[in-house]
Amino acid sequence: MTLQEFKENCAQIQREYTEKITSAADVASVEELRVAALGRKGALTELLKNLKDFSIEDKKTAGPLGNALKNTLTQAIEEKTAALQTKELNEQLNRVDLDLTLPARPVPCGKRHPLSVAQKRMTDILSKLGFTWAEGPWVEDEKHNFDMLNIPKHHPARDAQDTFFAQTGSPVSMVLRTHTSNVQSRYMEKHQPPLRIMAPGRVFRNDSLDATHSPVFHQIEGLYVDKNVSMADLKRDLSAFMKGLLGDKTEIRFRPSFFPFTEPSAEVDVKCVFCAGKGCPVCKGSGWIEMLGAGVVHPNVLKNCGIDPEKYSGYAFGMGVERLAMMMMNINDIRAFYENDLRLLNQF
Ligand SMILES: [Zn+2]
Repeated sequence: MTLQEFKENCAQIQREYTEKITSAADVASVEELRVAALGRKGALTELLKNLKDFSIEDKKTAGPLGNALKNTLTQAIEEKTAALQTKELNEQLNRVDLDLTLPARPVPCGKRHPLSVAQKRMTDILSKLGFTWAEGPWVEDEKHNFDMLNIPKHHPARDAQDTFFAQTGSPVSMVLRTHTSNVQSRYMEKHQPPLRIMAPGRVFRNDSLDATHSPVFHQIEGLYVDKNVSMADLKRDLSAFMKGLLGDKTEIRFRPSFFPFTEPSAEVDVKCVFCAGKGCPVCKGSGWIEMLGAGVVHPNVLKNCGIDPEKYSGYAFGMGVERLAMMMMNINDIRAFYENDLRLLNQF
């Protein structure tokens, strides 16, 4: 092959493949052209094999010419491939019915359990009335759960039918606390008056689960001990508390009752919020709903805790969180709080 023929062949290959690459319809056709021109047996590869027979002078012209053509074709193929890929992607996206204006799927968000909501509302109000947070153990000895609170040995509350015993006998009997009042005995043991605490928490009773009873539920205890604390202070503070919780028009009344740890003792009723006292199924026609137990701390309890009952007096109250939550949220079955049915929980 002469140098002239080599140049003509180069020009021929350039014309032919440039035209074919330009008009290629898809990525696969471009790949076929690459193999046909630059592959191991491609047109340009075959042509370049003639270089070895050329004189050194001719090689100086033919070599760069061949390489330049190789680069030109390689670049044309790469550019065409990229252009076709973009075009194919766009066509694919146009085929799919893609609506970018659709709203995103909602991400479910967690929220507080209704019992936590109710407890927080109660403790928020109590802390505004000056009560500070106190806690005690769930597994408690009989001394702090019963003895110090003036609950005698033979009292039915100590019966295994009412109380879960975690350990009986030696060295001491341990129970799952039956009320949050164990926090009273523990707190007064360590602190002298004036003191004003609230003790929210879980308590346990040997009850079967039904619409109004649960073996585990929640209480909030309130305790205020200082000089000259009386039933009048109790009534004033509970009235303020219930107004804060259920509205400014809320009324309360005290009914005489008996608890070993208070003297005098009272059951506290709230005027029914559903019928404003007229009588309805919720209040069973009476116009009042029993809400909590309260009273003036028994002198024996103060004495047992190392506080002088001649010098100090106090009041205490304990209420069920579930009972109040059921009323606030109009739930009529206590089991609803523990079943964790999201259809219910999401409503609060
Ligand atoms: Zn009513």
